[in-house]
Amino acid sequence: MKFDLWTKYALPVLALIASSSGVLLAAMAFVAGTAENASAQDNVLNLYSARHYQTDEALYSNFTKATGVKINLIEGGEDALMERIKNEGVNSPADVFITVDVGRLWRAEQMGLFAPVKSKTLESRIPANYRDPDGNWFGFSRRARIIVYNKAAIKPGEIATYEDLADPKYKGRICTRSGSHVYNLSLMGSIMGALGEEKSEAWAKGVATNLARPPKGGDTDQLKAAAAGECDVAVSNTYYFARLLRSDKADERQVAEKLGVVFPNQAGRGTHFNISGGGTLKHAPHKEAAVKFLEYLASDEAQVYFADGNNEWPVVPNVATNNPALKAMGAFKAETLNIAAIGKNQPNAQKIFDRVGYK
Ligand code: FE
Repeated sequence: MKFDLWTKYALPVLALIASSSGVLLAAMAFVAGTAENASAQDNVLNLYSARHYQTDEALYSNFTKATGVKINLIEGGEDALMERIKNEGVNSPADVFITVDVGRLWRAEQMGLFAPVKSKTLESRIPANYRDPDGNWFGFSRRARIIVYNKAAIKPGEIATYEDLADPKYKGRICTRSGSHVYNLSLMGSIMGALGEEKSEAWAKGVATNLARPPKGGDTDQLKAAAAGECDVAVSNTYYFARLLRSDKADERQVAEKLGVVFPNQAGRGTHFNISGGGTLKHAPHKEAAVKFLEYLASDEAQVYFADGNNEWPVVPNVATNNPALKAMGAFKAETLNIAAIGKNQPNAQKIFDRVGYK
């Protein structure tokens, strides 16, 4: 927080004073020098994160207790934080960047933001399909992209696969958020990995044709629309459904009660899973602490906090959470495709969605 306040208020004020008195460069050099010295002396880690969950407080304070390294948390939207790190360039104080969806991690990698990490701990703890083969980023929790349906309109077992979403019998019956959203681009990336581009394009065209309405809102809006009968089928990440199940608002719990859940493709390749994850940054002033923090996130204790904070599953095998909503959703088989391939497929996924008019 200390650093964030400093950049937010102190720097602009100093710049303003300096520019009017003609000593801008000298003032900036003084400020930069001070900040750098302070950060090198302090036992701190500057964490740029797009997560804002209560359990994260415990996550960070336990790291500080174990290592003596204090965490300065800089929060923001995923895309805004990436732009910020890029613009800060070599002077960026960011040590670790955490975001959601491999599509965004892949984009941050393409922007050259990460420094690859070689760590036996991370490589042994995190399954190979949930991390970048080059060590730029690592998954720390996982979420599934599921199909939900209105129980009054669809029988259990009627929809079993993502491929079913393109079946003409669902014409005008499906709700999704925008095709351009990173979650749908990643789902398409997974389907491209399984079916190849040609069949994936036919699938995308089928889904676009089956939409009940032009895409609007987030995943929760699709769940609510399906429960309200505006459509019969919706696509959502698991944690949005879990939030409704665990909501303290009766009307939100009623939305979940009206919906059936499908973990698609259980008889075949398994359901598409995506990750929350992060990596250390190229210009990190505290590289050693940054790697220590990533390794801590892969520990049993941190895995539970990290996953539970957003109703997700740990990536480290045999670490269990005690989340009633996840338990209620049941067991599942996850796809084994390396998640890095899904990130790489995103630009072509967008081109296909553009061609078929899945906006
Ligand atoms: Fe989300």
